[in-house]
Amino acid sequence: MVIQRKKILVTGGAGFIGSHLCERLLDDGHEVYCLDNFFTGNKDNIIHLLDNPYFELIRHDITMPFFIEVDQIYNLACPASPIHYQQNPIKTIKTSVMGAINMLGLAKRNYAKILQASTSEVYGDPFIHPQTEDYWGNVNPIGPRSCYDEGKRCAESLFVNYYQQNGVDIKIIRIFNTYGPKMQPNDGRVISNFVCQALNGEDITIYGDGRQTRSFQYVDDLIEAMVRMMNSDNTIQGPINIGNPIEFSMLELAEKVIKQTNTKSKIIFLPKPEDDPSQRQPDIALAQKHLDNWKPKVSLDEGLAKTIAYFKNR
Ligand code: NAD
Ligand code: UDP
Repeated sequence: MVIQRKKILVTGGAGFIGSHLCERLLDDGHEVYCLDNFFTGNKDNIIHLLDNPYFELIRHDITMPFFIEVDQIYNLACPASPIHYQQNPIKTIKTSVMGAINMLGLAKRNYAKILQASTSEVYGDPFIHPQTEDYWGNVNPIGPRSCYDEGKRCAESLFVNYYQQNGVDIKIIRIFNTYGPKMQPNDGRVISNFVCQALNGEDITIYGDGRQTRSFQYVDDLIEAMVRMMNSDNTIQGPINIGNPIEFSMLELAEKVIKQTNTKSKIIFLPKPEDDPSQRQPDIALAQKHLDNWKPKVSLDEGLAKTIAYFKNR
């Protein structure tokens, strides 16, 4: 139950994670401003919210200044899939860096809390496993993923400096691979690819030998952590890892998708993209300590079933 209705800006609100967050914040009784330039976002994700008088959709690009009066800002605007963020790498960097400056300026003017959706990609191809927040990472600063990784690293630096220099109330979470309904079928990320390929009876494309690992988090678990982080007291700034620590290889994932969809699709192996991290698993001790014992609840089998059902209905 909401004690006080807050005005909340969600940048990237028409995207996969942003649209789930808008829904949750409205359910909690808040007033939500969803800002998006629709690069990878989609009106269908939020179409059911348009009639809600407490929901407002704003077409805007966060690389340009934006003014509004709000209490909280969730800064999610940024393409997240490698095929999308590599399409226009300079724009990706501008979105992370200029977008962070614009949104931090807005937070400063409003005395608003601001949460940055950072990423496990700040750890690059990690030497430390599982990854703890004090690990500085292994990122190739000039590789094909650098526009995203370095943009997000710079955004973290901006957040910390706006706190230290200007006292802005900041929160940083490092999100690990998240999946669920409302991902775009052409998104290019592994779960949407495998599920759509399996449902269409197409070959399932594993890049490399399939032994690289990721830890997959169902979107509902992430949203719960995001809201807890935003509403944590102002001594908790992060960065804090948010992810599901159970790690799977891409081969294991493909097998799960094949089993659950009962498809006749065959696995094929394609070249591994340059700088593709070989392993990834979050250490979530900090999240558990600071976010009221938060931990992921949805298993990969359960989350895959919901995601498959969603794509079947599309
Ligand atoms: P997404 O691509 O579905 O959503 C991003 C949204 O931002 C889209 O609606 C897009 O149109 C919008 N956007 C992009 N550039 C913009 C700009 N310049 N101005 C305004 N809007 C813009 O991706 P997602 O998976 O929902 O990711 C949301 C956030 O979470 C991103 O910041 C991403 O880096 C971060 N994140 C996601 C994951 C994941 O696994 N999904 C992991 C780590 C971090
Ligand atoms: N991947 C794959 N087949 C695909 C899409 C991705 O094998 O059709 C692999 C990719 O090479 C990476 C892993 O799946 O090793 C996760 O890729 P994704 O783009 O989802 O996330 P990220 O690499 O950003 O963690």
